[in-house]
Amino acid sequence: MDVMDVIGIGFGPSNIALAIALEESGAYDDWLFLEGASTPVWQEEMLFDISLDTYSNIQNIPYRDLVTPRNPRSRYTFLNYLVENDLLFSHLNMDMLMPLRPDYAKYIQWVTRFFEDRVRYGRRVEALTYDEAAPGGGAYRLVTNTGEEFLARHVVIGTGRLPKVPSQFAKLETDRIVHQSSYQSGTRPILSAQPSSKVAVIGSSQSAAEIILHLSKTYPQLSIDSIMRRYAFPLKDTSPFMSEAYFPEFTDMYYESPVELRRRIDRDISRTNYGACDMDVLEEIYRQMYYDRLHGRNQIHLRRLTDIVDARVDNDRVELALADRASGETRTASYDLVILATGFSNIGPGPEDLRSISLLDGLSSWLDSSAGEGHVDVDRGYAIDFANQPADASGVVVLNGLCERTHGIGDGGSLSLTSIRSADILRRLRQSDEGTAAPVAVGSGMEEGR
Ligand SMILES: Cc1cc2nc3c(=O)[nH]c(=O)nc-3n(C[C@H](O)[C@H](O)[C@H](O)COP(=O)(O)OP(=O)(O)OC[C@H]3O[C@@H](n4cnc5c(N)ncnc54)[C@H](O)[C@@H]3O)c2cc1C
Repeated sequence: MDVMDVIGIGFGPSNIALAIALEESGAYDDWLFLEGASTPVWQEEMLFDISLDTYSNIQNIPYRDLVTPRNPRSRYTFLNYLVENDLLFSHLNMDMLMPLRPDYAKYIQWVTRFFEDRVRYGRRVEALTYDEAAPGGGAYRLVTNTGEEFLARHVVIGTGRLPKVPSQFAKLETDRIVHQSSYQSGTRPILSAQPSSKVAVIGSSQSAAEIILHLSKTYPQLSIDSIMRRYAFPLKDTSPFMSEAYFPEFTDMYYESPVELRRRIDRDISRTNYGACDMDVLEEIYRQMYYDRLHGRNQIHLRRLTDIVDARVDNDRVELALADRASGETRTASYDLVILATGFSNIGPGPEDLRSISLLDGLSSWLDSSAGEGHVDVDRGYAIDFANQPADASGVVVLNGLCERTHGIGDGGSLSLTSIRSADILRRLRQSDEGTAAPVAVGSGMEEGR
């Protein structure tokens, strides 16, 4: 079996941006991506097929796409997608700062078409180990769900963040509890069969707001409890000063900062991306609730300042013990369906963070869980610091889009820095091949484009 230069696991935006950088730099000949899904669709579970999408728009400036900040002359820019698909003038005519999410999903899909011979779809990587006997003195071995095996000198893990499931729900096994990452496929079978169900939506994020709107428009007979710990849905922080946290220079500053300073910054900037909503969805929910009152119905119920203190499954229902912190009362409510709009987990030291991901289990003997803050750590070029890596092992394993706790908010749940990050990663792979000691300064690499 040949040893490839680079194999990427996952072909979402993070690794698609890397594919563009690999092609445009010409740095490597043998590279391939393995994607678990059978087709390339960006965040498909939250792509709605009704006109609701008109206010479910993207959350990033469209030109901070998969390539423009790194190489504005690339053929893979959002602008060129509009040109080549004869959408440019109509798009500009809409005067929308943030495009529709389906439009952006089509842009991402359009880019993937240029890389069809570099991606194997329907290949979920299930094991990653190091094979010392591989040709060339050793290589990483990847095994997929199809039983196929691949060897690579470098591996880039771009598998996206994992669903965050609150501890009350973690051990409950039922199709009546659905995380937002499976929203449409998980809810459709139940709600089409039971359109007058009682549903709980947990959380106060943008996704929670969009899900409430989608449920309310698609299934007008539902009773929807919007359950949140907060007093109300917070408004997203759109301060241009706070948004500088998505600048490339911020990554350097954040990475160099001590842990306490990083956490202090996190507290400040978190609402630019997490646990907060755009004004348009908030206004729409508010109007919907007012409209319902005018018509003598009450479809959406706000359960604010409410903690879920217990959850259990009883046949086809989920029972939640809800502690209302305003009244001081705890009561039990029973639901046909509970939707967790509770976000995604980072790798990090926090109580809700993951210390590692299961894909790294086969390399766990290389990790030192007592070092640093006890989680998988990376250098500035996103390569994992393997404390116990054998001296003769070569190549690097890189985390692409999973390093928010070390590289800041632009790294995890955002497209904004995918292009710049891919230049950093490419540089890190080259450093490994050239035997340069890591970490070395990286950042804002416009030069990777041709
Ligand atoms: C509903 C929603 C809307 C969003 N909207 C925006 C937005 O407008 N703007 C913005 O900047 N960010 C947005 N985000 C944040 C989002 O995380 C990023 O836009 C982007 O999707 C991150 O890309 P990624 O490639 O790191 O991860 P993902 O998009 O999650 O892609 C990871 C890929 O890896 C594959 N995979 C996972 N495990 C394996 C495996 N073991 N083997 C092979 N393949 C695997 C998955 O199938 C998937 O295709 C949104 C997120 C959500 C959930």
